[in-house]
Amino acid sequence: MVDQVKHWHVTYNDIHNLIRQATPKIAAEFNPDLLIAIGEGGFFPARVMRTFLREETGNKTLQIQAIGLSLYEPLEGTKAEQIGQEVIRTQWLGPDSGKLLLGKRNLIVDEVDDTRKTLHYAVSELRKDIEKELLSFPESDRDRLRAATKFGIFVVHNKAKTKLAELVGDTPYFVGAEVGDVWLNYPWEAIDIENHDRLALLDTIQTK
Ligand code: 5GP
Repeated sequence: MVDQVKHWHVTYNDIHNLIRQATPKIAAEFNPDLLIAIGEGGFFPARVMRTFLREETGNKTLQIQAIGLSLYEPLEGTKAEQIGQEVIRTQWLGPDSGKLLLGKRNLIVDEVDDTRKTLHYAVSELRKDIEKELLSFPESDRDRLRAATKFGIFVVHNKAKTKLAELVGDTPYFVGAEVGDVWLNYPWEAIDIENHDRLALLDTIQTK
């Protein structure tokens, strides 16, 4: 069978530079206290973003935590309200998740926003952890603590396509680059990195 999907090869340097360009806006408008990498694609971007954020904001203690999410292919007839169930957790923040996030500006980092199901799941589930944690505080403190807890999102690439899920609330959203509905080949998936970089160069030449 012939692969009909258009592929776009992205190099480590492309990703590094997109993150560098995106960081000043993130530092100015969100200034995260914590990075939450969605594994596995968000690991490398979060690590690189930490370098630039530390430089930009002077926050030398900025930490990265990780969650692992995997998208289940929906079965035929799946309804919109079942969307969250198509994403499964392979790793989470542990029993103290809510405590870790409460009162912080938490930036969720992933490599690509495709259907948006993964990002929707991440934000809504992390918010649930906050709500659980808030139960251990007096009711009079909860609104203030909830308001002090922020979530933002950074993705290296956002695909311009119809999304199958919404972002929760008015979550600040930052993007390295907007792309079409292509299949992105990331360098960490490559076996032969030199050949990957050659293909990336060809992709760039062919679009000129
Ligand atoms: P979602 O559809 O939930 O936005 O994306 C789910 C996950 O699918 C992403 O985190 C990523 O791991 C994977 N994915 C989606 N589009 C692409 C792509 O173009 N290239 C690669 N390598 N992975 C993708």
